[in-house]
Amino acid sequence: MARLVMKFGGTSVADIERIRNVARHVKREAEAGHEVAVVVSAMAGKTDELVGWTREASPLHDAREYDTVVAAGEQITAGLLSIVLQNMGVDARSWQGWQIPIRTNNAHGAARIEDIDGTLLRERLAMEQVAVIAGFQGIGPDNRIATLGRGGSDTSAVAIAAALEADRCDIYTDVDGVYTTDPRMEPRARRLDKISFEEMLEMASLGAKILQVRSVELAMVHGVRTFVRSSFEDPDNVQAGHGNQPAGTLICDEEEIVEKPVVTGIAYSKDEAQISLRRVPDKPGISAAIFGPLADNHINVDMIVQSVSEDGSKTDMTFTVAEPDAAKAIKILENNQDAISYQLIQTDSGLTKVSVIGIGMRSHAGVASTAFAALSEKGINIRAITTSEIKFSLLIDADYTELAVRTLHSVYNLNRE
Ligand code: ASP
Ligand code: MG
Repeated sequence: MARLVMKFGGTSVADIERIRNVARHVKREAEAGHEVAVVVSAMAGKTDELVGWTREASPLHDAREYDTVVAAGEQITAGLLSIVLQNMGVDARSWQGWQIPIRTNNAHGAARIEDIDGTLLRERLAMEQVAVIAGFQGIGPDNRIATLGRGGSDTSAVAIAAALEADRCDIYTDVDGVYTTDPRMEPRARRLDKISFEEMLEMASLGAKILQVRSVELAMVHGVRTFVRSSFEDPDNVQAGHGNQPAGTLICDEEEIVEKPVVTGIAYSKDEAQISLRRVPDKPGISAAIFGPLADNHINVDMIVQSVSEDGSKTDMTFTVAEPDAAKAIKILENNQDAISYQLIQTDSGLTKVSVIGIGMRSHAGVASTAFAALSEKGINIRAITTSEIKFSLLIDADYTELAVRTLHSVYNLNRE
């Protein structure tokens, strides 16, 4: 007997028919004798609709009331799934964040979970009752509903798995696992049996949209074995995957991964913009003068390249931001022209960051140079490069995204046979 957390996303609970399908998955695990806590998202499109209504009510609105509105989507699904389960003869009860309670900080709209009291849930699980929990929400120190930021029910699920010391957190979604790259970009992408927490964190932060980044961080910190699998499978006829696991991808500690490939996956994120400040004085304090004001305005700066100045007096500083932030970033830099004293500011948009990820890189040399050679052969220009222990990222023109992803996928032998 195991203790499982099962999480179902918006497309998996999009209508009553699909909720019935979800209920059959839950019933299967409960009947196998497992203790089951389920975390649900709002039905597909619901949260967007609720967010839209708050904006329509008033473009500027109180974040606590925003949370009151948008948390409602998950409450509905939790109730509906409980009704369907009860109707199938499975003892089930819905739970909202405040009832557990899931305590968060006060950052309404983007709250972080601070503590989950698992006592009540454990009692119910021990009574063989399925707990159906509304994801995405908790209760703040002000005693009001707080939501965790878009995509937050992944984080709810992992946090509950950690609090309950569950054996596994199953994330049921509309894909059947984590792939070596986006299969829409490269049909020869392969599903991974296992991926380490660290690699998954890079994949998620660098553009793979399977899990909320924060949920992966949390899984890593608490060592929650997280299994990504499809909710659209026939619940009574689950496909066999690797070893004795069903089809899907296990995100786990790297100790559990016997064969560590040098490269595990290729991620990409489009809509990057590059900003260059030409001829800034090359002296202490210049980076702080540029990036301080951007950080103060919550603009996330990514790849930073500073060229060596010829005579030690002037340098060029180039960096990337998400394209929607570019105009704001430029305005801020212009307002700080006195402190930075650049001579020219230039921007390029329509760029893509392609990243190559693998824990095996730690112990192998020359991994990145293979990519440089392969891209140059295809005539793809690299505008900026950043590296870390287990990944490197290349900035290219967005027009070449597909070609670059496919070239790298093939050069690192990731194609399916
Ligand atoms: N329903 C919320 C959203 O769409 C949370 C989630 O689905 O993870 O962002
Ligand atoms: Mg999601």
